[in-house]
Amino acid sequence: MSNLIDSFGRQITYVRLAVTDRCNLRCQYCMPAQGIDIVPKQELLTFKEMYRLIRVLTELGVKKVRLTGGEPFVRKDFVGFLEMLSHNDLLDAINITTNGALISKHINTIEKLEKVKNINLSIDSLQREKFTKITRRDVFPEVYKTFELLEKSSLNLKLNVVVQAGFNTDEILDFVKLTEHKNVAIRFIEEMPFNGKGQREIQENWTYKKILEEIQTQFNVVKIKSEKSSTSQNFSIENHLGTVGIIPAFTRTICSDCNRIRITSTGTFKNCLFDDGVFNLRDFIRKGASNEDLKELFLSLVKQKPANGFIAEGNRKKGDVTESMSTIGG
Ligand code: SAM
Ligand code: SF4
Repeated sequence: MSNLIDSFGRQITYVRLAVTDRCNLRCQYCMPAQGIDIVPKQELLTFKEMYRLIRVLTELGVKKVRLTGGEPFVRKDFVGFLEMLSHNDLLDAINITTNGALISKHINTIEKLEKVKNINLSIDSLQREKFTKITRRDVFPEVYKTFELLEKSSLNLKLNVVVQAGFNTDEILDFVKLTEHKNVAIRFIEEMPFNGKGQREIQENWTYKKILEEIQTQFNVVKIKSEKSSTSQNFSIENHLGTVGIIPAFTRTICSDCNRIRITSTGTFKNCLFDDGVFNLRDFIRKGASNEDLKELFLSLVKQKPANGFIAEGNRKKGDVTESMSTIGG
């Protein structure tokens, strides 16, 4: 069986699939207050189409899928889709990124799905008022409840914190303190300046280096050996149950070990977060492409994967990245 190997010898084993472009929150760094222009429902991939695309990819060596969006739990019967995907015997892991506002009632069901292993919960502040300002929705109590339930569950939990100058940089140390008694991996993400033309100007650049320096003002961190393709540099702290990590999303120092591709909710294939989409899979399958056609296509598409995110950005025909992460599939 052929595997997906790009022209730099990187093997693709991970796909990020956005199951919707819709969201119940309006995070200021992700979209404007009025939301983004969502596409008509018939333009979204159906769950059946998603299942098929993932199945073909797993036959080419993909082992893991991350389901994201938009907010995955906004899509009707998303939990049913998790059950459906679990039937794919070639998949090792199904991971989910969520804002946590709609999931507390589903946690028991999800825990029973053997392949669902990792949940990334986005939570940018531990203070209700600030959380409301950032997400433009007053749902902190529900998200925090989800956090506590997930922490006690058998699922492996990571918290995503987008570091936003002037908003939550004063909470970096509070988040690190959480790891003392909670078995959770906190990952600070560099804010990227694209938010669906949301007019948010980033005042001060909180780079990987600056975030690390802030943590080191109070904690002695020790670098942990992470998986080669990990998106974060991870650290432990003596006597802390959890760990901390930093994702250099914008400074892009992780590209050489990238093992990922993306599929947006409308079926656009992306080799990189920063490219402008290289192929419309939805139209291809709706015109009758067979699984063999899809395989051939995937094998050739990954050969176009650029060496890194800067090159991908430079190759864009649509100019600078302005799309919301909700459209791209974060
Ligand atoms: N709605 C889900 C959530 O918020 O977790 C999944 C989709 S969201 C687009 C995925 C991740 O992208 C979240 O952790 C979010 O914080 C992050 N994200 C969105 N816009 C970003 C930006 N401009 N810079 C950095 N991270 C961003
Ligand atoms: Fe929605 Fe996630 Fe974007 Fe926030 S980051 S607006 S929760 S898609």
